[in-house]
Amino acid sequence: MAIIVQKYGGSSVADVQRIRQVAERVMRTRREGHDVVVVVSAMGDTTDDLLALAKQVTPNPDRRELDMLLTAGERIAMALVSLAIRELGGEAISFTGSQSGIITNDRHVDARIIEVRPFRVQDELARGRIVVIAGYQGVSYRREVTTLGRGGSDTTAVAMAAALGAEYCEICSDVDGIYTADPRVAPAARRIATVSYEETQELAESGAKVLNAQAVEFAKEKGIAIYARATTSPLPGADPSADGTVVRRYPPRLPGRVVGVASERDILLLEATAPGTTGRSSTPAADVLAIFDAHGVAGKQLHSAHDRVTLVVSRENLHEEERLRDALGARYGGHVQLLDNLGALSVVGAGINASFENLRRGTDALARVEIVAHDLTTSSFRITWLVLRERLDEAVRALHRTFIEEPGPAVP
Ligand code: ADP
Ligand code: ASP
Ligand code: MG
Repeated sequence: MAIIVQKYGGSSVADVQRIRQVAERVMRTRREGHDVVVVVSAMGDTTDDLLALAKQVTPNPDRRELDMLLTAGERIAMALVSLAIRELGGEAISFTGSQSGIITNDRHVDARIIEVRPFRVQDELARGRIVVIAGYQGVSYRREVTTLGRGGSDTTAVAMAAALGAEYCEICSDVDGIYTADPRVAPAARRIATVSYEETQELAESGAKVLNAQAVEFAKEKGIAIYARATTSPLPGADPSADGTVVRRYPPRLPGRVVGVASERDILLLEATAPGTTGRSSTPAADVLAIFDAHGVAGKQLHSAHDRVTLVVSRENLHEEERLRDALGARYGGHVQLLDNLGALSVVGAGINASFENLRRGTDALARVEIVAHDLTTSSFRITWLVLRERLDEAVRALHRTFIEEPGPAVP
């Protein structure tokens, strides 16, 4: 019997009615003759609500205590889904991340999975049960409860699929796959039938929250096929790309072609200039970054020159912003700024930077709608412009028009 892992996101378990629908879908899978492991997110906006509650108590909530609080969300959902499956006559048992053997490092709020020891899950599957797992959480070697960063239930599902040797991992959401842009922002966006791990990872890291970036990284490492589908879609048939997106290893198809546009709204841009940044360290970057590490803040897109550092910081897992600002201000005064009016806009595709044509075409498309980039970075799979946050959605639509709706020839 093949093992199937199915993950249901927050909107899919937002109320009792939807929880019943999830239970029915799980039972259908079971009746097809599969062993089923279900990973659930917290109901609806529970995680945001819990975070808001913590912020009412303190502007700088301690990361360990946040993890104690936030893991409660998935725990509620797992018990309700398990009860709903039982109500339909299924034999289900729910487990927390710790009980399922998800072992992480001890970096609270955005821990990484180091190892999965799924013995209890395997025992229950062997007994014929459906196992329901609380996503987004694990336990460190020091036995501290941890969370995996926002969107981390996807990561739980893929890591569990790898540890159990599952046939595939279904990520079930309110959207029926990965689109060429967030369909809420760009109504002309189209579903992508098949896409490579690398492109999906870049889309996720650029803000396409339909899949978590770490989850894709795991899937790639272990060769797990991900089926991104709507919870309301039928179970995957002979061709799961017909009504969903399949993420797996693919040879680059049309190198140079943009596959999608993504954006991240909630970022900060750190700009640090000498002499304030030079301090005791040999480079300004090392000096400033020590403060980020001391506060457990992960950054992306670092650029360091001899007298200047810029760093993009995602606000997603940053919960002590005031404390960070105070620490930077005390150390560097006016030489460091955290700009809070920008968003990141990216186009993704294998080989898109083989020449600068895509970069120039994108920058021209933005100029036509009078959007000027504050900053620009590239990697082999991605071009990222930082633009005014208030123009971000418009910028996504402009690039989607240029690269997806009227793409022209692929750039070699
Ligand atoms: P879940 O709670 O199921 O994990 P998320 O809210 O995390 O769902 O992710 C699904 C949402 O991601 C969609 O509703 C959609 O608005 C958004 N999204 C952003 N970029 C994309 C994209 N490229 N393709 C599909 N959905 C996207
Ligand atoms: N509930 C968590 C979040 O909102 C994890 C998840 O949904 O994947 O980020
Ligand atoms: Mg999600």
